[in-house]
Amino acid sequence: MFSHESTFELRERMVREQIRKRGIHDRAVLQAMLDVPRHEFVETRNVEEAYGDHPLPIGGEQTISQPYMVALMTQELALKGGENVLEIGTGSGYQTAILARIAGMVCTIERIDSLLAQAGKRLERMGYSNVKLRNCDGTLGWPEESPFQGIIVTAGAPGVPPPLLDQLDQGGRLVIPVGDRFIQTLLVLERHGKRFKKTRSGGCRFVPLLGEHGWEDDRR
Ligand code: SAH
Repeated sequence: MFSHESTFELRERMVREQIRKRGIHDRAVLQAMLDVPRHEFVETRNVEEAYGDHPLPIGGEQTISQPYMVALMTQELALKGGENVLEIGTGSGYQTAILARIAGMVCTIERIDSLLAQAGKRLERMGYSNVKLRNCDGTLGWPEESPFQGIIVTAGAPGVPPPLLDQLDQGGRLVIPVGDRFIQTLLVLERHGKRFKKTRSGGCRFVPLLGEHGWEDDRR
């Protein structure tokens, strides 16, 4: 499969050249990126490209995010360990696995059932027992499991879905790409009482977040 290097060496190089060099310094994030076998989350035909500096297709017109973007968004959550985290857009389950290595519990929502089923099987096979999966519209959040100390949205939104703000714990952080259907800005919102401190963390490009508080699904 990979001719000369073990996959750990591929991850070491990925972390060194794509992630540390661009300023990611959170130790738990760097360790998780070294530990999770990204090549097990991509389609067989793309396995040679699993550690490349770009997103990859995962079926259903969706993508597994670029490694750097996964690291940046995880660092922006500022997790210390033990948190209850909500992820919207399970996709391949790669970001879920990274989160599950750091947080206490990861609740993840995906609207495409076949992707969710595949990700669930993968995560179970790899031994993650602190992940709850759900097939529904993630723009509504997951009220029964709230509050969350961290919420991460891995699809591009037209605005911040209000239910996610409601379900964010005091001091918790919400990381979400907001913009148009093709290009977004990564927003970080930190809750203090009824107020949210907002910072921007650069430009990004995600597949659209569809749903009640997202974009309309124009194929319906
Ligand atoms: N975190 C993923 C990236 C997946 S791409 C990974 O690491 O592989 C974004 C995903 O968001 C897609 O799978 C898409 O189907 C999903 N998505 C889009 N709108 C959604 C919504 N309202 N609720 C849940 N999932 C959604």
